[in-house]
Amino acid sequence: MFFDTHVHFDDFVEDGSFEAVLERAQAAKVHHLLAVGGSVEGNELSLKLAGEFPGTIFGSVGYNRDLAGESLDFSLLREQAARSETVAIGENGLDYFYEPEKAAEQKEIFSQCLEIAAEVRKPVIIHTRDADDDTLGMLTDFSKVWKGDPANLGVLHCFTRDEKLAKALLDLGLMISFSGIVTFRNADPLREVAKMVPADRILIETDSPYLAPVPHRGKRCEPAFVVDTAALLADLRGVTVEALAGQTAHNAHALFGA
Ligand SMILES: [Zn+2]
Repeated sequence: MFFDTHVHFDDFVEDGSFEAVLERAQAAKVHHLLAVGGSVEGNELSLKLAGEFPGTIFGSVGYNRDLAGESLDFSLLREQAARSETVAIGENGLDYFYEPEKAAEQKEIFSQCLEIAAEVRKPVIIHTRDADDDTLGMLTDFSKVWKGDPANLGVLHCFTRDEKLAKALLDLGLMISFSGIVTFRNADPLREVAKMVPADRILIETDSPYLAPVPHRGKRCEPAFVVDTAALLADLRGVTVEALAGQTAHNAHALFGA
């Protein structure tokens, strides 16, 4: 049984392929999926799907960094964060690759999301790109006000950085999630990081509809493909795919309390 911890369902619902995509996921033994939010529409869809597929699809709500500069309704987010379908706050974080000029606004949004996560005691799903220092700094502050289980602070999703950042995040109490990027031909340094993450701190995800793993590159990514990422990670770490699937699903259930 696989747990895909990061799926954007928006496109699948929009073009009518959602049911087929979910069927293919279940046929591939991907029985648990986290429908990630991060925008007004994404949050609504995540809660809707989590309500329709309890025990299969889990919800998360957040405001991601691409909303920097927009006026955002944080009281709505606070309300959605407290709902039982919501198992995590995200995705949110910082991205200085795309919009470095909006760093201050991004940090403002991120800090409000972290505050809400601390209030509702739900783990955070973090996006970060070219913003290691600020991300670490803000997560360090968050860890100090976090009153939940110190091991369940959250997850750095779609990890692509180095061992130094991975270690710092693990020390803070975050889990590390690997997407299809770890299967890419030029990802040797990332594969080295994937070898050192402790068994009880690793998660897997597709980040569908983006980043299809080898051998599906060029296709739209979907949750069934998480099996290929799991197979590569299992091989790297010298365990069976079944063991890796079981361990990462166990970790996700522990983190999300679902
Ligand atoms: Zn995402």
